Amino acid sequence: MPPLTSLPVEFVGSFPDPLHQLVPALPEIAFLGRSNVGKSSLINALVGRRIAKTSGTPGKTTFLNVFRFPSFYLIDLPGYGYARASLAERRRLRRLVDGVVRGRAGLAGVVWLLDIRHPPSKDDIAMGEMLEAWGRQAIVAFTKADKLSRARRLAAERARLEELGPAVVDAVATSSATGTGLPELTGRIERLIGSAR
Ligand code: GDP
Repeated sequence: MPPLTSLPVEFVGSFPDPLHQLVPALPEIAFLGRSNVGKSSLINALVGRRIAKTSGTPGKTTFLNVFRFPSFYLIDLPGYGYARASLAERRRLRRLVDGVVRGRAGLAGVVWLLDIRHPPSKDDIAMGEMLEAWGRQAIVAFTKADKLSRARRLAAERARLEELGPAVVDAVATSSATGTGLPELTGRIERLIGSAR
């Protein structure tokens, strides 16, 4: 697959139903992570266009935002663990994310974003357990790698992988600021899509 920056992309829509059927059916890749983890920055850097909105954007917070590439759909899920969200919002969000991870037949895999600098939060741990419970293939994308020196980055990666346990089989350190890891992440996404066929 060429870099995503060179592929056409089209916004399909924002959907409140986690099982909203996409036509035509194509493999789907969902992006998820804590609010503020750097998800929209990473998606925009990967795609080379400002398609994803930050978690801070009002509205659209509990919807699936779907983008179509020629051979797959990218599903941008709202960030979880937003401290200021109401209980009702948190429940809606949980239902949406659970629904996607558990129920979407076309889901080829998940890109799960984690800030390289911080141990996984309670919400992150719960997410990891859910991915494992439903047997979802997850690639961890560590974000904001540019915030650490090379030596500290390697140490942080090792520490994070240890904290996350054996469920994580694949991880890439990325930075949307410098472009680190973006070709590698694209390659991993391509592999997930290939394995879905
Ligand atoms: P989202 O809420 O997960 O969509 O996160 P955003 O993409 O809005 O990013 C949250 C904050 O982290 C913003 O202030 C970004 O500028 C910053 N950020 C995101 N990615 C990076 C990165 O790769 N490097 C650095 N240094 N900052 C980043």
